[in-house]
Amino acid sequence: MRILITGGAGFIGSHLCERFLKEGHSVTAIDNLLTGRLSNIEPLFKNPNFTFIKQDVTNFIHVPGKVDAILHFASPASPVDYAKYPIPTLKVGALGTHKALGLAKEKKAVFMLASTSEVYGDPDVSPQPESYWGRVNPIGPRGVYDEAKRFAEAMTMAYHRYHGLQVRIVRIFNTFGERMRTEDGRAVPNFTMQALKGKSITVYGDGSQTRSLCYVSDLVEGLVRLLKSKINSPVNIGNPHEMTIREIAEMIKRLTGSKSKIIYKPLPIDDPKQRRPDITIARKELKWGPRVSAEEGLRRTIEYFKGEI
Ligand code: UDP
Repeated sequence: MRILITGGAGFIGSHLCERFLKEGHSVTAIDNLLTGRLSNIEPLFKNPNFTFIKQDVTNFIHVPGKVDAILHFASPASPVDYAKYPIPTLKVGALGTHKALGLAKEKKAVFMLASTSEVYGDPDVSPQPESYWGRVNPIGPRGVYDEAKRFAEAMTMAYHRYHGLQVRIVRIFNTFGERMRTEDGRAVPNFTMQALKGKSITVYGDGSQTRSLCYVSDLVEGLVRLLKSKINSPVNIGNPHEMTIREIAEMIKRLTGSKSKIIYKPLPIDDPKQRRPDITIARKELKWGPRVSAEEGLRRTIEYFKGEI
């Protein structure tokens, strides 16, 4: 197969490039390098099956030749990044999704959308099943990401219903691992870098809000299975093991052997109080479930961040 990955130089995108090349497919990564990095895909350039196009996918995407699958993973994904780039975030989720869908239709390719647990907003249902419509503030600081992804899901379903396009929509829950940027501002890189450098570990709010951490290799396995499936409706992929942010901070402190103090800072606006995926559909239809615990994943990620310092 020839697989096109938008956001191919990003954290998850680069892991997808690597996985599909390993399976013997031909991979084209497209990225404007706003939050992606060439260093993520540098080792792939020696593979003759890999090509890279530096482009902003909010503009028309011209790719000659056949394409069998398009995976739309381009977008800032950290709250700090999408606060810094609110308009590019809205544009890539809206215009970028439209362009990528148009290309998929032209090439008769399967289209996969990287959606997010953010479509559920600050949920009043837990765990969150795919059938839950969410509770999102459209005009808050997170709205630029949440609403772009909600629009992207609507657009993707419209292409499925109106044009008969084969689509896959994955709602990704808090994934972490190697190749996250040390400075991307999310909890895992922040806590790890603070712990490794002996700086105070900054927990926002009282740290009682929850997240469910999924290690990147588990996510990628789920994505590959979803792509091969025939499921055109959204599927949650994430690890249902729910932890408070305080527990995550304490675990990172312990695993790094750090003497850093845990300090408390104001909670950002609209910060979701809880997040835990209901993965009944993935378990049943994809025979998928996470294999790597948060602790094991964090150990590997800490080693990676040590190398980045
Ligand atoms: N968080 C924190 N300290 C930090 C960074 C994040 O306490 O230095 C909190 C943040 O307020 C949120 C949780 O950790 O409650 C997860 O934040 P992250 O940015 O990783 O992503 P989110 O799940 O909010 O999209």
